[in-house]
Amino acid sequence: MSNDPYHSPRYPGGRRGMMFVLSSPSGAGKTTLSKRLMDKNPDIVISVSWTTRAARPGEVDGRDYVFVDEARFKDNIAADGFYEYAKVFDHYYGTPRAPVEEALAEGRDVIFDIDWQGARLLAEAAPDDAVRVFILPPSLRLLADRLKKRGQDAADVIERRMARAEAEISHWDEYDYVIVNEDFARALEEIDLILHAERLRRTRRPWLEGFVEDLFAERK
Ligand code: 5GP
Repeated sequence: MSNDPYHSPRYPGGRRGMMFVLSSPSGAGKTTLSKRLMDKNPDIVISVSWTTRAARPGEVDGRDYVFVDEARFKDNIAADGFYEYAKVFDHYYGTPRAPVEEALAEGRDVIFDIDWQGARLLAEAAPDDAVRVFILPPSLRLLADRLKKRGQDAADVIERRMARAEAEISHWDEYDYVIVNEDFARALEEIDLILHAERLRRTRRPWLEGFVEDLFAERK
C-alpha cells in the first residue's frame, strides 16, 4: 500500500480500516452507488453477504451474495461465522465475519450494503470502525417507480417492499451521514467525500503520534 496517500511513508504503521456502512430503502440507488464508489476506490473491499433468498436474474453467486440454503446459514450462525445477521422478507441475510476481519487487519476499508438492523449491530460491535451513511430517495413516488421498473417482482412483493422502505427510512437519524440521491453524480461525489474525510480522522492514523513526536524532536 505504498502509494496510498493515507499512509505516511515515514511511518508505515498504516491506518485502521473502516467499516463503511451504506443503508437505504431498496430502490434508492444504494447498490449502484456502492459499486461506483468501488470503481473510484479500487482498494476498497465489499462485504458480500450471505442470503437464503433465491438469486434474481443477473445476480452472480459470490459477487452479489453468497446464496445458501437455510441449513447452511444456520450452521454458520452456530459457528459464530457472522458479524451480524437478520431476517428480512422471510429470508436470512448475514455478514460473514472472516473476510471483514482480514480486510480491516490489512488496513483496507470495507463497504457494507445492509439494512438498518445490520448497521445498528455493526456499529455496536465495532463503534470505532463503523461509519454509517444513509441514502434517501428524493421522493416516495420515485422509489415506487424504480421498484416497478425493475420488473422482477410481483405487485404484492412491490407493495411489501414499499411498506418496508418506509420502515427503513424511519431509521435515518441513527446514521452519521445522510445523503439525498436526487442527482446520482452528486450523491456519488458526496459519498466519496465522506470516505476520504473519514480516512483522515485522527483515530484512523495511528502513525500521527510518532510524527508529532518527531516534530517536537526537531527543537532539540
Ligand atoms: P435484497 O433482497 O433486495 O437484495 O435485500 C433486502 C434487504 O436486505 C436490503 O435492505 C439489504 O440492505 C439487506 N441486506 C443485505 N445483506 C444484508 C446483511 O448481510 N445483513 C443485513 N442485516 N441486511 C442485509
